[in-house]
Amino acid sequence: VVCCCSAWAAAQTAKPAIPRDEQLEAKVEKTLAKMTLDEKIGQMLELNLDIMGTYDASGKWKLNETMLDTCISKYKVGSLLNAPGTRAATVEQWQEWIRLIQKKSMKHIGIPDVFGLDHNHGVTYTQGGTLFPQPINIAASFNTELARTGAQVTAYESRAANCPWVYNPVTDLGRDPRWSRIWESFGEDPIVNARMAEAEIMGYQGNDHNHLSRYNVATSLKHYMGYGAPFTGKDRTPAYIAPNVLREKYFEPFKAAVQAGALTIMVNSSSINGVPVHASYEYLTQWLKKDLNWDGMIVTDWADINNLFTRERVAKDKKDAIRIAINAGIDMSMDPYSVEFCILLKQLVNEGKVSQERIDDAVRRILRLKYRIGLFDEPNTGGKGYEKFGSQEHADLALRSAEETEILLKNEGVLPLAKGKKILLTGPNANQMRCLNGGWSYTWQGSKAEDLAEKYNTIYEALCNKYGQENVILDQGVTYNEKGQYWEENEPQIEKAVAAAAQADVIIACVGENSYCETPGNLTDLWMSENQRNLVKALAKTGKPIVLVLNEGRPRLIADIEPLAKAIVHIMLPGNYGGDALANLLAGDANFSAKLPYTYPKEINSLANYDYKVSEEVGTMAGAYNYDAKVSLQWPFGYGLSYTTFEYANLKVDKANFTADDTLTVTVDVKNTGSRAGKESVLLYSSDLIASIVPDNKRLRCFTKISLEPGETKTVTFTLPAKDLAFVGADGRWTLEEGDFLLRVARLTAPTTCTKTKVWNTPNK
Ligand code: BGC
Repeated sequence: VVCCCSAWAAAQTAKPAIPRDEQLEAKVEKTLAKMTLDEKIGQMLELNLDIMGTYDASGKWKLNETMLDTCISKYKVGSLLNAPGTRAATVEQWQEWIRLIQKKSMKHIGIPDVFGLDHNHGVTYTQGGTLFPQPINIAASFNTELARTGAQVTAYESRAANCPWVYNPVTDLGRDPRWSRIWESFGEDPIVNARMAEAEIMGYQGNDHNHLSRYNVATSLKHYMGYGAPFTGKDRTPAYIAPNVLREKYFEPFKAAVQAGALTIMVNSSSINGVPVHASYEYLTQWLKKDLNWDGMIVTDWADINNLFTRERVAKDKKDAIRIAINAGIDMSMDPYSVEFCILLKQLVNEGKVSQERIDDAVRRILRLKYRIGLFDEPNTGGKGYEKFGSQEHADLALRSAEETEILLKNEGVLPLAKGKKILLTGPNANQMRCLNGGWSYTWQGSKAEDLAEKYNTIYEALCNKYGQENVILDQGVTYNEKGQYWEENEPQIEKAVAAAAQADVIIACVGENSYCETPGNLTDLWMSENQRNLVKALAKTGKPIVLVLNEGRPRLIADIEPLAKAIVHIMLPGNYGGDALANLLAGDANFSAKLPYTYPKEINSLANYDYKVSEEVGTMAGAYNYDAKVSLQWPFGYGLSYTTFEYANLKVDKANFTADDTLTVTVDVKNTGSRAGKESVLLYSSDLIASIVPDNKRLRCFTKISLEPGETKTVTFTLPAKDLAFVGADGRWTLEEGDFLLRVARLTAPTTCTKTKVWNTPNK
């Protein structure tokens, strides 16, 4: 098995990621030359579809053709987004709506609209489509092929619904467990984020980023950048990130994804070190468009230009905010409810405060996107040729994905659970689809919409199918209050659940969180709710073995109940087939193979990531004093068990000494020492032992996933460019310093030495 690590850290090249297509560029120029200023500015606005219609008394939305017509003919609006009422519509409905939008756009502007949806773990806003596990689960699989194929199906099903643009992948590093959007990300590690995003881009966009097929969609990386590090832990709050860390960790996955061909980028709503990202020429124009020579399009997040004035207070009014953002490099304003943008931007151009060149540059990027997608040739898709929408084939892939993303964290002999046992199934997540899916599932908050998820199995239904309904007693003990906020719970009925345990051989407690998304998912406390922990504590007194199922979008603290469980499965948010996948895994019909994509903390004062500077793994040197370096982890990043066991041996590096231009070949033998087949993710870490700034404990450099039959051994070969061992120093430059490195796979370590110092410049320093 050979796994190549690309020299992503070293690739500071200004070569455009997508080769320039002269014919396509000529079409862009020809279209641009014919456009009036009003038409150009209209292309730069993205409105919410919602405002093009009205709701009747029953809450049903109806498109108002006259409103749509006026908006497009008068303001020349170039893009629309979102599902009315943030509720999934049928494929036919989407086709009809978008067809009408395209008809009006072609009639009034002669330029097709580009419609965008948050189809982020499948076609979340299209009924009957396939919903996959959320991105955090995909990261846990450490299987990039799963990411690619899932994205490919999502692209296909999006185009079936006539939607050509999805707001995914999320390349924010999810490094703060308190953050309400960590489950939308690929977790805390830059390499996992980079590799998964690259794979998804191939899945969504296909191989030719200049000419997408009618089964591919444009992607939007988001939320560029640092969005996953909110200072307060709450969504959209400012981030404070040291410039070298920003460059080395937060920027890198975006850079990798840009170099993989991502066509658009959505921006972080908040600020980094006091600079709102929407107002940053350096981050938007310099780093992306100039340094990476990226010819893609930058879209704001929700009303975020206005926020430069109303929230961030770096602009004196909306007009000033538009001036700042457009001059910083924003190409399209997602200003969902207002056309004021068009009026104010025109004034700014006429006053000479925004140049005609900047407008042309932005519009060129928007037109290029539309040509690349193929919208001018085929503005509508769907209907014939999309028969696989919501098919069994897609469902099977979603089920296999879910099985590969649920993590076994503890197993003291209870699993697999033999058939014939009587199960008490308890906890608020035991019988609800919305918990399995999380946010962006049929609705924005993933809220109720049980009707839309009816045909899928909750954990309860899946266990009944597996073990027989007569063997599964459902008594939830704690239930969510569906009328209130997602975290509110009804009066707990713990005693009743405890009484029900008397008839059971084993207790499966499904605890965690209800679904949520963005700001409504903010927390005041990272601990799992007290009711749920009390339920587990009360059940533990029965002496029956407890299997804890953690169904949550972030690692909620459970230190007091962890010792009470004999087995723990962290299913995170596994999607529509997550219940079936869990039943297969619990019964041993499928094997566990996922690993934690984030650090699972044990206490509030230990919210550190795995690369945290000080750790017991590399260790502080003897003689360090007055230093409590202990980080209290429930489980480390990369942790996950299987029904089989693996042994690692013979870790070898082909060079004892190397220079910055070398490539290291690292090999390790992995053996399945258990009695059943299994998959293992093999993770290669490096540690820089002494450096000019405090070195990270360790960094993941490469990973791959292999399948092994019982007794089988495979040799995994990683090719690691030495430059990948570099870090960004205090001077803002990528640097590889002379000294010793430790390479580590599982518990094996191999020391190597770098003999030559090589420093190279970042593009803009
Ligand atoms: C979110 C984005 C999303 C956008 C459009 C925003 O509130 O932050 O992630 O793509 O809405 O729905």
